Amino acid sequence: MSQQNLSPNATALDQYINDNLDRYIDETIRLCAQPSVSATGYGVRECTAIVAEMIAARGFEVKTYETPGQPVVVGHAKGTSERTFLFYNHYDVQPPEPLELWTTPPFEPTIRDGKIFARGVADDKGEIIARLAAIDAVRAAHGGDLPCNMVFVVEGEEEVSSPNIAQFVQDHLDILAADGALWEGGGVDHEDRPGSVLGFRGIIAVELSVETMSRDAHSGSAHILPSAAWRIVRALTHLKDENERILIPGFYDRVIPPSAADLALIDAQADYEPFLRKNYGVKNFVANRHGKELHTSVFEPTCNIQGIETGYQGPGTKTVIPAKATVKLDFRLVPDQRPEEILELLRRHLDKQGFEDVQIKFHGSMAPFKATEDDPLVRLTQRTAAEVYGVEPRPLVPLGGGSSPAYAFSGPLGGIPVVHAGIGYPNANGHAPDENMRIKDFVNGARHIARLLDGFADL
Ligand SMILES: [Zn+2]
Repeated sequence: MSQQNLSPNATALDQYINDNLDRYIDETIRLCAQPSVSATGYGVRECTAIVAEMIAARGFEVKTYETPGQPVVVGHAKGTSERTFLFYNHYDVQPPEPLELWTTPPFEPTIRDGKIFARGVADDKGEIIARLAAIDAVRAAHGGDLPCNMVFVVEGEEEVSSPNIAQFVQDHLDILAADGALWEGGGVDHEDRPGSVLGFRGIIAVELSVETMSRDAHSGSAHILPSAAWRIVRALTHLKDENERILIPGFYDRVIPPSAADLALIDAQADYEPFLRKNYGVKNFVANRHGKELHTSVFEPTCNIQGIETGYQGPGTKTVIPAKATVKLDFRLVPDQRPEEILELLRRHLDKQGFEDVQIKFHGSMAPFKATEDDPLVRLTQRTAAEVYGVEPRPLVPLGGGSSPAYAFSGPLGGIPVVHAGIGYPNANGHAPDENMRIKDFVNGARHIARLLDGFADL
């Protein structure tokens, strides 16, 4: 990498983070010592107050907003440019049980072998402090000013699937307006190489149910009494064909195929096939896909059966006609499909095929979103990752197969790019006993984020 590409304040930023590392370790320990288990509510309110105090200590104007669940902490700071950078984090943690598998107690942070062990240190409290460290470093390098406006959003329900964040964003678009966002997560892989994803598919989860009679009946009457099991199976055959093509009219109308840039990124990915064959013992992939298609087909939406429940499944046999059947389905959606539209199309399709009796229960959704590879913030994230970690980052993954609540920010805020830069590594044991963060990853994460903040105003 040529010298002129380096972040102009790189030396000052790194120096500041190194000089103040003990202070950040103390803050990480303080935050992790405060339990904040959203599943049970244990310590959550107290944690909200500490997070608000820590962000306010950086000169942010902080307000804590109530939601139907746990509060959201929002901090604002003015910068010297018009551009606004948004941080998303969460202060809640997973339950620490089973306690006996922890080497030291989960809420008594302990340093061993260059790592801090505590519940939440990797997911997501160490990350909050790494961002605060980056903000401090950037402010110091800019003579006490911030180079861009900053919005800090810290929610308290991520570990219970963020049931209120999408509505919170919709209700507060005015205070959350931003030009780019840094999501939680990020860090290095098993080779200490950083990597990132440009976006994620959406999802809509539904349950179809049908009731053909008021109660189960003797199968001696199968020539006259209707089976709910057959009914639901017939309905399912109208959803997808043998080649994985979804049969709902209009379903593909908004699908954007992978761009030339996406395909070039896919070309740079490692072959996935040997791992999948070994790991899942799979002989034939879906629609006989293989090789590169295992990457490109992430741009295909899916219709997955999570499970079917109907009739008798016990030992031996039971000559019964089931009166009720339910099936749980999820559709993974690609840009620019809209979950609410898909739900309508599904209902219309079932009706048109004569399945008005099949009820649809909506279980939840997330929209797809994706940045482009040439987005300036994405480029800055990649370039500064190479600078901090001293290796080329892994090729960007154009679209992750799963779904992320980052959709709740990206779309409503005008399709802003959402990038990843953080403190993670494969043995962080997130959600598990002995969760930990390597202090060197903390330092690198803070250095990386500081460079993003330093360069963001000029993009
Ligand atoms: Zn998390």
